[in-house]
Amino acid sequence: MDEVTKIFGSVVFNDDRMRERLPAETYEALQRTIKSGKTLDLSVANPVAAAMKDWALEMGATHFTHWFQPLTGITAEKHDGFITPSKNGRVIMEFSGKELIKGESDASSFPSGGIRATFEARGYTAWDPTSPAFVKEGTLCIPTAFCSYGGEALDKKTPLLRSMQVVSRHALRVVKAMGMENVNRVITTVGPEQEYFLVDKKLYEKRPDLIFCGRTLFGTKPPKGQELEDHYFGVIKPRVAAYMKDLDHELWKLGILSKTKHNEAAPAQHELAPIFTTTNIATDHNQLTMEIMKKVADKHGMVCILHEKPFAGVNGSGKHNNWSLSTDTGVNLLEPGKTPSENIQFLLFLSAVIKAVDEHQDLLRISVASAGNDHRLGAAEAPPAIVSMYLGDELTEILNAVARGEHYTEHELTKMGMGAKILPQFSKDNSDRNRTSPFAFTGNKFEFRMLGSSASIADANVAINTGVAHVLREFADALEASEDKVNTAKELIRSVVNNHSRIIFNGDGYSKEWEKEAEKRGLLNLRSTVDAIELFESEKNVALFVRNHVFNETEVHSRCEIMLENYSKILHIEALTMLEMVRCSIIPAISDYIGSLSGNIKALRDVAPDAPCVGQLKTVNKLAKLLDEIYLGVKVLDTAVSLAEKGDSELTKARAYREQVFSAMEALRYSVDSAEALCDARAWPFPKYSELLFGI
Ligand code: ADP
Ligand code: MG
Repeated sequence: MDEVTKIFGSVVFNDDRMRERLPAETYEALQRTIKSGKTLDLSVANPVAAAMKDWALEMGATHFTHWFQPLTGITAEKHDGFITPSKNGRVIMEFSGKELIKGESDASSFPSGGIRATFEARGYTAWDPTSPAFVKEGTLCIPTAFCSYGGEALDKKTPLLRSMQVVSRHALRVVKAMGMENVNRVITTVGPEQEYFLVDKKLYEKRPDLIFCGRTLFGTKPPKGQELEDHYFGVIKPRVAAYMKDLDHELWKLGILSKTKHNEAAPAQHELAPIFTTTNIATDHNQLTMEIMKKVADKHGMVCILHEKPFAGVNGSGKHNNWSLSTDTGVNLLEPGKTPSENIQFLLFLSAVIKAVDEHQDLLRISVASAGNDHRLGAAEAPPAIVSMYLGDELTEILNAVARGEHYTEHELTKMGMGAKILPQFSKDNSDRNRTSPFAFTGNKFEFRMLGSSASIADANVAINTGVAHVLREFADALEASEDKVNTAKELIRSVVNNHSRIIFNGDGYSKEWEKEAEKRGLLNLRSTVDAIELFESEKNVALFVRNHVFNETEVHSRCEIMLENYSKILHIEALTMLEMVRCSIIPAISDYIGSLSGNIKALRDVAPDAPCVGQLKTVNKLAKLLDEIYLGVKVLDTAVSLAEKGDSELTKARAYREQVFSAMEALRYSVDSAEALCDARAWPFPKYSELLFGI
């Protein structure tokens, strides 16, 4: 066997290992659970735990952990040894079915948005058998869901699984009504493309803003940024190539289908894309990928930065969530085939997504809202904050034809002529790409492009799945009640075209005209996280989540609180970091430089009393003025933070952070960056953008 196939999944308790190591009837029972989505039988857990433990010990593990995804957005793990005391002061290694399926955790130390008080702290973790266990650094990691004593979800996995379940249920009803046999389940699939930056560790360690906030809070633009467009797909530097190779290796061991790697638009920016898999596993794998990215970078003397906007003036990082629906028999329900106009089932699913996106623009926007992503959305580099969909001209025409009851004939695919006979001939795709659309149909899947690079993809997928499930339920109700399914399907499509076409936009999503046009169409434009989050607990959204059993009312409110609280906390940390950097390092550096320049002028005039010193004097004056501005900026920011902290609800607090603190930070940064551009680089207290971005 070659190297890659040998190492792939080598630290995962995957299907092969289960088949090898489990008694046949246990294996079958476990598979039934995984495939049917039904609750696991307790009698199955014991032999599974024993086999898992034996395998993990062979892999060198000494501990196990229930690996879960609390609302911090990152993963959590508490390690327990397998050791159990035995006779003569010795130990044996044990792991029971009970320990596999259920863990206890202190829920009060994780964000709960008011669900948990410290004195009623119990929380549980529960095994998710659909995502395979793996060994990481001597610990058997068991993917789990996390809930409170009262059963409320306190994590990202639980609602995701609930949303996958409800989509499956109604999509299944639709395909059955449309005459598809032998289908038992419909699965949502996701392939998340991950962007990231790499910076030299030694430089990183000198930047408190990168350390505490994950992004630079100051920094003048270097003479060269990304304007030459020479980094995107450029030759990968040896140090980065070595990192990527090592990273692939580590990810493959964990069974993560890392496939594509390349340089991205900004200097020091790169991308990794895996092959798609089921949403649940894709989410777990994306969390693991982000963790491994950081660890491997450290080994290479670098730091992997996952923040949405680490550097002003060049592109930030996002995550493209490629999403589709597929039957357990392997049929992609968003595959148009050669003649989409005749593929009513495809058009029906396409219409369901269109309706869902139009009706739940707010939820999609909220699902990607974060303090970090506020720096991207709406700027001219990432999708706008307005949610719209790209279908391409041909599909749009097909839908319109169905709505008008007209026949449509697909255009012949044109052959590509490149002028040189030696080059291969191939057919052109029937639509071009559109890079500016937040929700683009890309051949046989939708690409939701608004996600921030550091986010868990769970939130976005909960929003998409729930919205789509809600529409599919309605479609299924209509189809099941109808005699003429095809005609009913066409009517459903027609009604979507007639009522939801406003969400379709095939033009340039970055343009100012689109903003105006979108407003005319009545589309939402939620500019900031705070504007967006408020809507999460609207009556419409609570009803949607409750009806589809994705969140109960308490869970909706608690998540809303946590999102707002998180936003304020991030801005709070950023503001304090800024104040410290300015007070303790930047002000002293500027003062020193002013002092040294003034000293120079004085010294020069001692020997040449008539020396004009025009340039130096101008610089001293400019810097002195900026220094005053900076002192004032510090005061304004300090006051804004104190006022914001006094807010009497999470919403008022978050609003104050957005409105007062954020703008005070921007103003202070502006003064500091102007001063940096005038100061002696040798005396500037922090590594500059040119070093950070071009240091590798
Ligand atoms: P690009 O977006 O650059 O064109 P690709 O189209 O090759 O790249 O795919 C981007 C991502 O979409 C990959 O992670 C790929 O595995 C994923 N993808 C492809 N098909 C599906 C699907 N049916 N469901 C979900 N993701 C998919
Ligand atoms: Mg893509």
